[in-house]
This record gives sequence, C-alpha cells and structure tokens, in this order.
Amino acid sequence: MTEWENLLEIQKFDLELDEIHAKMARENDRTKKFSSEVRKESDLLAQQEEMLKKINLRKRKLETELNEVNDKIRVSEMKLKNPGMSPNVYMSLSKEIETLKGKIPALENSLLEDMEKVEKLEKYIETGKKVSEGRKKQLEDIKNKVSVALTGLKKDEDLVRTQRNQLSFTSKGYGYEVYEKLRLERKGRVIFDIDKPSCPSCGLKLPGGVVSTMMGSGAFESCPNCGMFLHWTGIADGIV
Ligand SMILES: [Zn+2]
Repeated sequence: MTEWENLLEIQKFDLELDEIHAKMARENDRTKKFSSEVRKESDLLAQQEEMLKKINLRKRKLETELNEVNDKIRVSEMKLKNPGMSPNVYMSLSKEIETLKGKIPALENSLLEDMEKVEKLEKYIETGKKVSEGRKKQLEDIKNKVSVALTGLKKDEDLVRTQRNQLSFTSKGYGYEVYEKLRLERKGRVIFDIDKPSCPSCGLKLPGGVVSTMMGSGAFESCPNCGMFLHWTGIADGIV
C-alpha cells in the first residue's frame, strides 16, 4: 500500500469510529432524556403531595373554626334561656348569635371547596404514583438496553481502533501528519475523492496545476482554499 492508500484506509476506520461515537452519544441521550422526564414527573408528584398536605391542614383549621363557632352559638343560646336577663344583655347576646351564624356559610363553603380539592388531589396522586412506578421500571429497562448497546459499541470501537492504530504505525510521513492535523481541526471526512476539478468541501474551482500534480502520482493535494485533502479518482491523462 502506498502512503496515500494507507491514508484512505485510515480515514475509512476514522469515519467508522465517528459513526460508533455518534451511536454511543445517541444511546446516552436516550437514558438522559428519559431520566429527566421521570424526574420531572416525580417532582410534580411531590409538589402535589405537598399541596395536599397544606390543604388538609387548612381543612382541619376550618373544621376547628366551624366547631368553635357552633359551640359559641350553643353556649349563647343556652344563656338566652336564663330567666331574669336584662333586655340589654338579651339584645347583645342575640346580636352575637346573629354575627356568629353569619360566619357559618362562608366557613362551610371553604370547607366544602377544600374537601373537593382533597378528593381530586388524592385521586390524582394515586394515579400519578402508579404511572410513576411504571415509568421507573421503564427507565430501568432502557438503562439495561443502553448498557448492552454501549458494551457492544465499545467492542466495535476497540476493534476498529486497533485496526486503525496498526495501520497508522506504517504511516508516519508528511501526508499522515497533515491528515491528523485536519482530523483534529475539522472532524469527519477530510480526504475527498474528486473526478472533477473542484473541491467538494468548499466548492473552489481548482487551478489546473493542482489537478495535474495529482494525476498519475496518486498523491493527495491540499485544497488551496480550505486545506482539505483531495484525491483524484478521475481519468489520469485528462486535460483540465
Ligand atoms: Zn476546498
């Protein structure tokens, strides 16, 4: 193999490695995305449980308050039955009872509203917990599948990397240096096959001198504009 043929092989391995790394990234993304969804769902559930606690607390306070008002009314009504009460005291007691009774509808309404909220939230949380259990199991499944896939991809990677490294031992010339530098800077494909005098990477129409140098020699030339390696695969004696 010539130095240039070697480089083409090395690029083939490097592009395979790129593909493997992209697959690994996609696998890792799958777990990340699903984990973040599951976390959001359980955060939401925790918020609702917190809200349920607050409403239950408020509901108990309302119940206590309502009991207290009813107790006060009962006591005052008992007092009203006392004989020998002065008309003034009677009047003020009656007024107090009136005021207390006026408070009851609002308290009862709030209590009813909270009872409905509690009922809804309890149902919601119950369903949410069931869904959350399922989602967590699903996440475990995905994690296992991703782990299996990553192990397989790692094996592929090791194999391709070994082959690539073996090949690179025999490629220590100028071309290899340029290739490695290009790969570091640009990623992906850095050697382009051409059979027309233009650069597929940047679109530059190539000067005739560049093409004629490549013809016959099999050597790569750097694009004068973007620096990518160009490999002539067109007819060898064509006039450009
Ligand atoms: Zn170019």
